[in-house]
Amino acid sequence: MAPFNLLYYRPDTVDQALDLFRILSKEQHHPAFYGGGTEILTRVRVQDARFDAVIDLKAIPEVLVHREYQGSAEFGAGLRLTHVANRNLWPLLTATADRVADHTVRSQITLGGNLLSALPYREAILPFLMSDSAEAKVATIGGMRTHRVRDRYDQTFKLKPGDFLVSLVVDGHEIQGLAFKSRKMTRIDWIDYPLVTIALIRRRNGGIRAAFSGWAGFPFVSSRVDKILSNGRRSPSDRAKDAVEHMPMPALSDTHGSRAYREFVTQYTLAGMLEELEEET
Ligand SMILES: Cc1cc2nc3c(=O)[nH]c(=O)nc-3n(C[C@H](O)[C@H](O)[C@H](O)COP(=O)(O)OP(=O)(O)OC[C@H]3O[C@@H](n4cnc5c(N)ncnc54)[C@H](O)[C@@H]3O)c2cc1C
Repeated sequence: MAPFNLLYYRPDTVDQALDLFRILSKEQHHPAFYGGGTEILTRVRVQDARFDAVIDLKAIPEVLVHREYQGSAEFGAGLRLTHVANRNLWPLLTATADRVADHTVRSQITLGGNLLSALPYREAILPFLMSDSAEAKVATIGGMRTHRVRDRYDQTFKLKPGDFLVSLVVDGHEIQGLAFKSRKMTRIDWIDYPLVTIALIRRRNGGIRAAFSGWAGFPFVSSRVDKILSNGRRSPSDRAKDAVEHMPMPALSDTHGSRAYREFVTQYTLAGMLEELEEET
């Protein structure tokens, strides 16, 4: 039992959830949408957040959708990361989501909770940031809105207060048979926050796309880095060195590793991943 007072609501529909947020806010409460609750409860417990009411989205059918439909794959924001990995509709998403936390915690964490976490890692967003087709369905008081994930992402996935993420949709043609590599490097243990997590894809035109978590205070992609990595006339190690030198921001120095160590680990990991990806494709 949580040692604090938290109003708990579990609406059955999108409209009920939106109304609840509006009504609770009007009544001077501080509501939050609730996925797996692992972060919300921790933050409330250590008084890092002022939420006093939570709106659990997991009884809303649209938030639990998990399907291949009309040539697309759709992932509800309320899906547990273990479900996403077990069903494996998108192997790249499985590979990144399946390295978040340990299995027990992953069976609580939801896709939406990971993507909208206040923590800097949000590893499950990497595949969506690399995708051209990825769209987010967002519930708003004015109705359901669809946005390209890349357009709505600037260090975080942008949502207006009172709106919530319903699901993410990617084009099946884009993800089918996509060559990829995903690697999470941690300081010591297999299970930890990332020193750096790197996801790479080889696009049908031969170009490489990369996404990073752990390097900075938020996950990111960079067209400049992609251009460097895509230059197949240069060796993987030269490209990796150049990419690390041209990251859009300096690497973090924190308890997981110094800036120099992060740069070193990123460079050699990236070189190895490039080599493997290009050997296989
Ligand atoms: C032990 C442990 C280890 C971890 N390791 C990792 C790791 O290795 N890599 C990593 O990336 N992360 C890691 N995390 C972080 C974790 O992914 C996030 O804390 C995530 O937010 C938890 O998901 P949740 O579903 O429990 O979120 P919740 O606690 O339910 O919500 C988190 C935030 O997201 C918002 N939210 C949730 N769903 C929605 C929605 N549909 N629409 C709008 N807002 C929403 C909430 O309002 C809240 O602000 C770890 C967490 C724990 C507890």
